[in-house]
Amino acid sequence: MAQLQTATVQDWITRFGAAVAENREWLTELDSAIGDADHGANMARGMSAVVEKLGTGASENIDELLKVVGMTLVSSVGGASGPLYGTFFLRVGAGVGAVSEVDGPTFATALRAGLDGIVARGKAELGDKTMLDALAPAVEAWEAGTSEGADLVEVARAAAAAATAGRDATLPLIARKGRASYLGERSAGHLDPGAASTALLFDALSTAISGTS
Ligand code: ADP
Ligand code: MG
Repeated sequence: MAQLQTATVQDWITRFGAAVAENREWLTELDSAIGDADHGANMARGMSAVVEKLGTGASENIDELLKVVGMTLVSSVGGASGPLYGTFFLRVGAGVGAVSEVDGPTFATALRAGLDGIVARGKAELGDKTMLDALAPAVEAWEAGTSEGADLVEVARAAAAAATAGRDATLPLIARKGRASYLGERSAGHLDPGAASTALLFDALSTAISGTS
């Protein structure tokens, strides 16, 4: 596969919604250890609103579709994660533009814009034990794979593996951003909930691109 179509992007978002719903309890457990136990509920509420909205009409292009995703997350999720994920999807959409298919390198640029949007909004740095610690390695893997001209199925698999490794690497970290930072050293020894949901996001993308379940 060399291009991502609007339908693949819609499939990505739908699969992410299903993954969040399936993993709601786990995300809540992670957030109960170092936060306020609402990340599962926040993401499930936001993504079920997104999936419902997408079901009411097909978007013609990728920008339009991701704008619906981003705006819905910003307006339906109260926690920090809503505006951060919302910003991500809005920026990725704007980076792709009003087209119905996008190639791997252009999508890499769009993912990078999404990541930059999260940094601009949340001011986190790598190693602060946030969603960024899963997102940044995934975007880097996407950039590296597409610059070498790898097939998108392979690129997406590598990005998902990088996100999962990034999630796991948050375990020993001390949180420096968000609610978990209030715990100081006691935040070490737990996975970051936002990094966990970001790993689900890239897993869903890989599954949508490879067309398997
Ligand atoms: P809240 O913290 O408001 O309860 P959630 O529980 O839904 O919101 O989301 C928490 C997650 O948000 C954290 O695990 C972390 O990954 C992410 N997060 C929090 N603050 C920031 C930030 N400033 N930058 C990036 N990610 C952040
Ligand atoms: Mg929370």
